[in-house]
Amino acid sequence: MQKSGISKIANYLKDQIKLDYNLSKNSWFGIGGNSSIFFQPKNKEALKYFLLNYKIKKNIIIGSGSNILFKETNNKDIVIKLGPGFTNIKEINGKIFAESAALKSKVSEFALKNSYSKFEFMSCIPGTIGGGVIMNAGCFGSEFSDVIEEVYAITLNGDEIILKKSEIKFEYRKSNINENLIILGVLFAKTKKNNSDKILEKINILKSKKKKNQPSSIKTGGSTFKNPTYGTSLKAWQLIKKYNCDTLRFGKAKYSSKHCNFIDNTEKASSEEIEQLIKETQKKIFLQSGIKLELEIKII
Ligand SMILES: Cc1cc2nc3c(=O)[nH]c(=O)nc-3n(C[C@H](O)[C@H](O)[C@H](O)COP(=O)(O)OP(=O)(O)OC[C@H]3O[C@@H](n4cnc5c(N)ncnc54)[C@H](O)[C@@H]3O)c2cc1C
Repeated sequence: MQKSGISKIANYLKDQIKLDYNLSKNSWFGIGGNSSIFFQPKNKEALKYFLLNYKIKKNIIIGSGSNILFKETNNKDIVIKLGPGFTNIKEINGKIFAESAALKSKVSEFALKNSYSKFEFMSCIPGTIGGGVIMNAGCFGSEFSDVIEEVYAITLNGDEIILKKSEIKFEYRKSNINENLIILGVLFAKTKKNNSDKILEKINILKSKKKKNQPSSIKTGGSTFKNPTYGTSLKAWQLIKKYNCDTLRFGKAKYSSKHCNFIDNTEKASSEEIEQLIKETQKKIFLQSGIKLELEIKII
């Protein structure tokens, strides 16, 4: 039973709620399905109002959608995306605190400006801090779990909680944070202050490495598959190439010619075509090598 009808809530929250909303602009693939309710709260009060007045069965919370493929074939019930009111970045007692909708690149810029080391890698990863925590995003040998101290979140009942890093299990591109928690912010661990020129030099090196090896202006979700952690020393892209999956094509779905673990959706494939490409790749590689490629992107 709903505590309140959506029209009453929408009346109160006004343009923060959209009904029957197409999600394509909220995924880097440029592919949507629809969500019955799309809620972009302006601030914590609006978020709490919604959580206290509307009973959510299954919550989907998104950041920038740089790791998400929305299926066009199923309608999502409620999608919540924290808005610009959740992008504050500040210093607290010599540590960086960032709200969850802040972009990683902005946190890296803030760290540079205030001479904090260890945030350089964030300049190379798209999307928000919230998405980075859930995915334990990382590159070039650094990942979120290296720099997190505490995660601030809110439950679907509107209770605010704090998770210490020791309470969270982080693995390669994965965390065990309950998927019904909405991350509000992160307190990062104290890191060594360094000379800004040195930090900037490192950022520039990482960015140019990334630019050299990965496509930058295509519609994609980044690495489609995780690199296997056992059974082979080959990376996902090497397996894709070795077993001739890099040239597979389903309708308009194909891999990037620059990096074959990235799907290139420049030609505007459907989500079904992309899923076919993924499944056929997994099948071909498994049949020939016994290795099961695990998805890094989330299909919702
Ligand atoms: C061109 C390109 C390059 C990329 N390079 C890298 C890379 O080098 N390293 C890397 O690790 N990843 C990379 N990615 C993948 C992606 O950018 C990261 O996983 C990123 O951390 C996702 O952030 P996001 O805000 O877009 O999250 P989304 O894609 O919106 O969501 C990702 C997951 O986090 C959850 N989530 C998001 N926000 C919240 C929140 N506030 N509370 C609770 N759950 C939340 C979502 O439900 C979903 O499960 C790349 C992607 C692209 C398109």
